[in-house]
Amino acid sequence: MEISMSWEKNVRRVEPYVAGEQPKREGVIKLNTNECPYPPSPKVKEVLRQMNCEKLRLYPDMDAQKLVDALADYYHVRPEQVFVGVGSDDVLAMAFMTFFYGDKPILFPDITYSFYDVWAELLRIPYRTCALDEEFCIRKEDYFVPNGGIVIPNPNAPTGVLEDVSFFEEIIAANPDSVVIVDEAYVDFGGESTIPLTEKYDNLLVVQTFSKSRAMAGARIGFAIGNEKLIGYLKDVKFSFNSYTMNMPVIEMGTAAVLDDAYFKEIVGKIVKTREWTKKQLKRLGFSLADSKANFLFATHEKVFAKDIFLALKENNIYVRHWNKERIGNYLRITIGTDEQMEKLVAFLEDYLQ
Ligand code: PMP
Repeated sequence: MEISMSWEKNVRRVEPYVAGEQPKREGVIKLNTNECPYPPSPKVKEVLRQMNCEKLRLYPDMDAQKLVDALADYYHVRPEQVFVGVGSDDVLAMAFMTFFYGDKPILFPDITYSFYDVWAELLRIPYRTCALDEEFCIRKEDYFVPNGGIVIPNPNAPTGVLEDVSFFEEIIAANPDSVVIVDEAYVDFGGESTIPLTEKYDNLLVVQTFSKSRAMAGARIGFAIGNEKLIGYLKDVKFSFNSYTMNMPVIEMGTAAVLDDAYFKEIVGKIVKTREWTKKQLKRLGFSLADSKANFLFATHEKVFAKDIFLALKENNIYVRHWNKERIGNYLRITIGTDEQMEKLVAFLEDYLQ
């Protein structure tokens, strides 16, 4: 019997976000959390090798200036336009706290990154979801209504569907009274970034991460680029919450990763090539796929239930992602791994679906 404690009425109760499983055992082909199958740049390894641990005595640079400057340089913006945090989850949570403070509901797609409604609930932000069309595309007219803010991933997750910059420009231009957050966690795998629009629109915040295309999910680095005033407000909230979010080794490692552009382009190129190969194979095996431009595919099979495929794969040490959710319950999200991993996946499915 559950006994309700008297102090429980003072507790902030929330339904937490459920992340993809991180298996403890070895030998799993892990295609369930959109990590990069390749290691980070060798320059990152070098930084760790040469790290002066003596410096850990001191607090890190709370502005993470070195990393901010490297990002500003890379994206051709001023350092005052860059904000960094502990993964894009941290950056997005801070942005929700800072910019979604009105009475009107914020808007995001019904099928999207499942942290958005969790943060909205946690922070007591009113929200409304806008249904994607049958093709899993965003209907931009849904965002031409009064609102307290907008957040949309591009490409969207878990569908992988990409919209072009002009599509977002229309949404941003139509909403001068709210902040529009474009979550570009996967944009490097074939999309065009909206970062250049930050020069023209002061209500745009673009968020990106080192977790996917820069192969550094374990380091936890995310960043946002926007108008200086917007970034200033974001920093005010961050410094009121936790000044020292980025640790010293991570600031150094992140900077080294940004500077190694050749390596970044090489691994992104490999993943895109493997993605296109995997798309063809899955279609051949009877799957329908959204045309993903991310480092994952979103697939449904014409005859076999996604849940059954998910369980069969898991039993054979191949982990993909499945949600028991309306509209997407019969889909699997499959992260693009190495060629060898995807060949094993296809070989298993070939056998299983016979
Ligand atoms: N946005 C989207 C759309 C994502 O899928 C993810 C990964 N779960 C994130 C943000 C957060 O990634 P991270 O915190 O690792 O940067």
